[in-house]
Amino acid sequence: MSETRAASTAPSESAAAESTESPKTVKYIFVTGGVVSSIGKGITSAALGRLLRNRGFQVAMQKLDPYINVDAGTMNPYQHGECFVTDDGAETDLDLGHYERFVDINLSRAASVTTGTVYGAVIAKERRGDYLGGTVQVIPHITNEIKERITQYGRSTGADVVIAEVGGTVGDIEGLPFLEAIRQMRRDAGPENVLYIHVTLIPAVGPWNEVKTKPTQHSVMKMREVGIAPDVLVCRTKVALTQEQKEKIGLFCDVSLDAVIEARDTETIYAIPVLFEDQGFSELVVKRLHLPPTPPDLDGWRGIVQRVLKPAHEVRVAVVGKYTENGDAYISIAESLKHAGIQNDSRVHIDWIDSETLDAEGAADERLPGVDAVVVCPGFGGRGVPGKIAAVCYARENKIPFLGICYGMQMAVVEYARHMANLSSANTTEVDPDTAYPVIALMPDQYGVADKGATMRLGLWPCALAPETLASKLYGKTNVEERHRHRFEVNNEYRDLLTKAGLVFSGLSPDHKLVEIVELPQSVHPFFIATQFHPEFLSRPNRAHPLFAGLIESALAGRKKE
Ligand code: GLN
Repeated sequence: MSETRAASTAPSESAAAESTESPKTVKYIFVTGGVVSSIGKGITSAALGRLLRNRGFQVAMQKLDPYINVDAGTMNPYQHGECFVTDDGAETDLDLGHYERFVDINLSRAASVTTGTVYGAVIAKERRGDYLGGTVQVIPHITNEIKERITQYGRSTGADVVIAEVGGTVGDIEGLPFLEAIRQMRRDAGPENVLYIHVTLIPAVGPWNEVKTKPTQHSVMKMREVGIAPDVLVCRTKVALTQEQKEKIGLFCDVSLDAVIEARDTETIYAIPVLFEDQGFSELVVKRLHLPPTPPDLDGWRGIVQRVLKPAHEVRVAVVGKYTENGDAYISIAESLKHAGIQNDSRVHIDWIDSETLDAEGAADERLPGVDAVVVCPGFGGRGVPGKIAAVCYARENKIPFLGICYGMQMAVVEYARHMANLSSANTTEVDPDTAYPVIALMPDQYGVADKGATMRLGLWPCALAPETLASKLYGKTNVEERHRHRFEVNNEYRDLLTKAGLVFSGLSPDHKLVEIVELPQSVHPFFIATQFHPEFLSRPNRAHPLFAGLIESALAGRKKE
């Protein structure tokens, strides 16, 4: 590939930015979870990161994932949720998306540590002879490797505080080396520099919603078995906890009353930093870690929450994808739509549509009327492809605002080729390797690539926008950088033909070899744009991505016209 990789270092305030070694003492906060999985450790960590950043601290976020995969790139989104991609092209756990969105930082590969990476590194060292003569063991070799990745991350990012979340639930066999490593960290770094936060569930059972603290007591016991006594408990609950209940939790779990933090279900996840701040969470953390008592400033964030809760308008967006039954599979897209709603003072109601349900002839015409915009999601393989193409066709013909992302863009090109350029059997070679019209085909540097892990075109790459296009209007500039994750691309041999048929290639790699954005002229369609990259990875609640913001603005305009 002749393109040069875009500079992937983040802005100076970024936790990912490399800095010269600093002599300052780094503080470490470890977040673990108990009772059930998916308890909200990621959002808890991200929300605390936001609060500490608002107090002026430089915060670095890290995820320690006990699974054996080297990264999340090879996992099914159904099981594991979205694969999030960083600037430097790491395929990571979706929690990194929460960290980036809440803390407003750009993370790097070092923010994600898995059992796979740790064992891979230790085994490579063993083969090299680094431990010659020794027996390589979980303790100390694996635990040392984990600790090294945590402390090195703190040093290289110049952070005041590293918040490291341990994936999984206490009691998981594969989590043990990570828990042992973070246990040792208190001894290594000093007790005043390490804080353990345990996120747990307080169920309310029976017809009277009786609050039960026993699972939390057991979860804390499990933590103690591995030598960690949590300093703070974050209690997920559907009902408000009484003072008495908090005291009971504190007594049985040996934490002070102010360290029992209630995490009640909220209407929006963006309210969680506020919920925490109002209980003095960040003040407690600052005191316990002997950080300077800088004042919290949450005014801007409170404003965002207000706009989420009380919008003036509402739009309905169909999000068409293969994994719509798991809300986490497209979480960055869902969040980006919310951010665009915040910017447009609008609630965005998402209509999740399984693309396979649109496969049948006429299904899109039945299912899609009433939506104000259509998003076609990223994806792989042939399943649900006819439905995605039908969704593009419906949006194009009915002039419904449309955003296609990655596979969604490739489907838009296939649809246009079939219906507007007389190439009725056009396809991507991913679905039909023998198609007569391969309008989407493998990138040349993907020929012969056999391994599936970390071999796609990944991470931040530059894109030059053609002037006077919807893309350049939305971005308000001519050069952008966006994150990628794909193997296939628009086949350049069909560019002329498709251009003649009316499709506009409005974003290209700077050497013009790769198509990054396609669109329709606004004289033909109010808003039809699709990108080879993933704009959803760069959207923030306080800074909606221009393509999503434009989509919602156009959806609102369409609704007002009705
Ligand atoms: N399957 C397509 C490719 O590999 C699109 C990937 C995606 O949507 N992330 O190019």
